[in-house]
Amino acid sequence: MDFSVAPAPFLPAAGAEPGTAWPRWIRMFDNFLVAVGGGSFSAARKEAILLTCLGAEGQRIFESLPAAVKQEGEDQYAFTRRRLEAQFAPRQNVCVERYRFRSRVQQTEETVQQWVSILRQLASSCEYGDRTDEFIRDQVIERTNSSKLRQRLLMEGSDLTLERTLTISDTLESAEPGVRIDRERIRPLLEAAEPRDEKSLRAFLGAVGSERNGVADGLSRLPVAETWWPDDDSIQIAALSLAAAVTEEELRDASASDECLDVIRGYLAGRWPRQRDVDPRATGFYQVRDELSQLGPLLFRGERLVVPAALRERVLRNAHEGHQGETRTKQRLRAQFWWPRLDKEVRDLLRSCEVCTQHDGHVRQERPPLQPIPLPDGPWQRLMIDVIGPMQGPQHERYGIVLCDMFSSAHPLLGTQKSCSQPLSNPKVYRPGG
Ligand SMILES: [Zn+2]
Repeated sequence: MDFSVAPAPFLPAAGAEPGTAWPRWIRMFDNFLVAVGGGSFSAARKEAILLTCLGAEGQRIFESLPAAVKQEGEDQYAFTRRRLEAQFAPRQNVCVERYRFRSRVQQTEETVQQWVSILRQLASSCEYGDRTDEFIRDQVIERTNSSKLRQRLLMEGSDLTLERTLTISDTLESAEPGVRIDRERIRPLLEAAEPRDEKSLRAFLGAVGSERNGVADGLSRLPVAETWWPDDDSIQIAALSLAAAVTEEELRDASASDECLDVIRGYLAGRWPRQRDVDPRATGFYQVRDELSQLGPLLFRGERLVVPAALRERVLRNAHEGHQGETRTKQRLRAQFWWPRLDKEVRDLLRSCEVCTQHDGHVRQERPPLQPIPLPDGPWQRLMIDVIGPMQGPQHERYGIVLCDMFSSAHPLLGTQKSCSQPLSNPKVYRPGG
């Protein structure tokens, strides 16, 4: 036999550290054995080769090992190998292993069964021997995240076996369906980008489920398929249906059966007729025909959804929730929805809203829209002045005059006085931060 390709002796000299760690050395030996056709060798011959490769110092240690008992079905080679393994394999730090075992608490999404199988793995290097089950049982009692289970187990007394522990936990877990979270089922949510603004939050919620069904129900209906995560279009539609407080299904059904939208879909599929030949139901769309597009039965004007007639009142009422004034109601709608004569319908709704009319006696007056002030060419050309107060402070400094330069946006506080009716004497100038 050619020993020139055998691994170097495990221990190079007396008292020396192994040149190669045992797990690696024994793998090298296995390879060598295969290379010399050792598969067909007898156990005694393999043992002899192993000891030869081990080298003189290794053999000396082997011979000094305490006597051991061969396990059932174990041949001479396996027996020797196991004894060498016990001697040379690096020892695990039992303290560290036990610490890891005891620190392993039940995770929120984990059943007791799953947890216990992990504890069993950890316990295998803890040298708990035949008390392993006992330690696992104690760990379950101490570190379960269900106080109900803990109480129940503590009532069992000291005869409680690990098997019984698992039976009890199974019963309790199945009595509380829906409490466990199956991470796999909510994976799309866990992996979804964190919503950063209102729009992405709406999209996120829309993907989970409609407002009416609630998030929890949406979760339970999430399919598991790989291809689940929706494309941009379906996120957009989900967000729109959420904003309109209608389900996507209602939106699709109502759009599909809307006569007017049907006419438009016909035009979009072919071409628009001349204005005077347009179907009277579709006239409100003619002006915006270049902005219209179609996605399944849904119609869009740009990014905005064309709400089918049957759902318009609901969408309107939803936008008017909280009895917002006309401007707010319109703003809420216009960002996401469109249909012809939308503005007029908002006005009509507000006039007919009982709460709004009863509360104010008349329809709430719309505030004039904010007008931007043109930027002046330089500082001190255009100033705004106002009196502020009363403020906290000494009696003679209760009121102040604020002067704002429209160019620089600086706000010097010009002077203070006891009351705003007194003439300004000894004006003091305060500057922001000064
Ligand atoms: Zn109202």
